[in-house]
Amino acid sequence: MQEKALSRDPADGGSEIRIPATAVSRGIGIGRAVFLNGDSPLPIKHDIIQDGIDGEIERLQQAVQHSLDEIIELSSAPTPDSAADIFGVHSLILESSSLIPDIETEIRVNLVNAEWAIRTVSQKYSTRQRAAADHHISDKYLDVVDVANRLLNALAGSDSSHSGGSDSVLIVTELMPSRLMELAKTAPKAIISEHGGWTSHSSILARELKLPVVTGVRNIERHISVGDAVIVDGINGEVIIRPTETSISQFLEANLIVYVSDEVSPTLNGKTTTKDGVEIVIRVNTDAPEIFQQAKEQGASGIGLYRSEAIFDRMGSFPSEDEQYAAYTQIAAATGEAGVRIRTFDVGVGQLSGDAKMVEKNPSLGLRSIRLSLTDQSYFRAQIRAILRASCGNKIDIVLPMISGVNEIFRLRSIIDEEKYELTAAGVPIGEPLLGAMIEVPSAVMTANEIAQNVDFLCLGTNDLVQYLLAVDRDNEAVADWYQTLHPAVIRSIREVVEAANQANIPLNICGEVAGSPFYTPLLIGLGARELSMNVNSIPSIRNLISGITCSEAAQLIDSISSYATAAEIEDKLRSHYLENWSELFPSRLLSAKNL
Ligand code: PEP
Ligand code: MG
Repeated sequence: MQEKALSRDPADGGSEIRIPATAVSRGIGIGRAVFLNGDSPLPIKHDIIQDGIDGEIERLQQAVQHSLDEIIELSSAPTPDSAADIFGVHSLILESSSLIPDIETEIRVNLVNAEWAIRTVSQKYSTRQRAAADHHISDKYLDVVDVANRLLNALAGSDSSHSGGSDSVLIVTELMPSRLMELAKTAPKAIISEHGGWTSHSSILARELKLPVVTGVRNIERHISVGDAVIVDGINGEVIIRPTETSISQFLEANLIVYVSDEVSPTLNGKTTTKDGVEIVIRVNTDAPEIFQQAKEQGASGIGLYRSEAIFDRMGSFPSEDEQYAAYTQIAAATGEAGVRIRTFDVGVGQLSGDAKMVEKNPSLGLRSIRLSLTDQSYFRAQIRAILRASCGNKIDIVLPMISGVNEIFRLRSIIDEEKYELTAAGVPIGEPLLGAMIEVPSAVMTANEIAQNVDFLCLGTNDLVQYLLAVDRDNEAVADWYQTLHPAVIRSIREVVEAANQANIPLNICGEVAGSPFYTPLLIGLGARELSMNVNSIPSIRNLISGITCSEAAQLIDSISSYATAAEIEDKLRSHYLENWSELFPSRLLSAKNL
């Protein structure tokens, strides 16, 4: 990815640095910079003076002792033999190898802080080891990385400035949803991440948590030090390092109005209808009963997408059938009549097995989702049994992800039927869940008619559809410019899927991130969408918007773009139509960040 241009504020004698970024979760956060790198703090270089050498070496020694104590504690817990071997190797590296003496030399000779010396020396060691011809040696480079991370964590623990907290802006390389959940507990003001796209699961979660996040910021450590003041503008996509007083007060004011319009207009009771009386069903995407409760208060009817793999993150391992039964029963009790659509596990083989060796070269094209359900049926069958049992007396439906053709529906339906038969034969009470297919792969769009005739409803997953249709990784911010939701191919695909559902007379629910982004609402309604499922925080603005437009005008708008050949032309046309005709519905905050 190209490094983005920096600018300085001329009014402040150049002290403020502005770095363009990609806003992926709306809001403004002002705080102090804290670096985190995966599970360990990202080291920053500090030059030290001659008199500081002893102090730095003392800090290093304390970190070594702390790490050894940790290793002893970890290895005293019951562990498999392989783990005990690893702890043995790590103790040896800390106690007897040349790693620690070399780090001390780095501190003395180059007059740098302990963190930087650990980084420099451990990188040299691991590079050398990785290059070894004998794979028994080259495979071990990860042990050095692990030991270095442990030392860095120990140093960070002795320096609270690294541990985050409520006035922090966290700077990370990459964010996983489970890690984000953990970090959110310390209530940081915002997160700056090097990697991640608008539809990455972490970005989706950050929007649910109302935590401002920007991505695509490379090499930020060259411009910022731990503890520096920083503003994250998660609306226009910018990071302001060491901001001037003027900038701080401007952003504090802007922050006050970020969510003001996020309330459902008091005139909107019950159903959501367009001005010409067409009902649009609004559902929420969530797996948490408390989020559903909030969504219900905002006017959502039911859960349109329950990403069941979220239970993995919550439980830290594969959930048993009974654990799943409990989770599904609990969510169904919360949603009541309106119901919940549970998507079966949408995970890759590496994630399911927890085995790093199973990580594939192209996981999004690999053994994942229903392909994995068909290959290793035991966990799919357990999930189906849990759903069938939980659906007794509850409104639960099943959604099959990553369907590429109707044959998969036949195969998966016969597994579901077998499980129904077995449970009934054993006298276990079950319900009658409806079966839906997720349309998110181009071949499913092209065969949407056949699929629609063999399921009870369709779900359109635009996050993946854009990825697979345009061959652009949704998690890779380097290709964000190619991730074009308004590409004519995407728009034609949505139209085809709407028509397939209409012909088969079954409902279609749009549940990708476009459904919760006001910029796309007239487009979706104009294309014939009548059910939208979204993040809880999107519900108010989408409902307000729907109630201010007519279906007929949205359809005319779509007719007017049908001959456009590029996403840019379509975006311009939509923007100018909104400004000319619906300016009161599209305040600048909805137009400036089209994806949020
Ligand atoms: C999608 O692909 O659009 C979708 C809704 O599912 P996910 O984001 O979990 O892939
Ligand atoms: Mg998907």
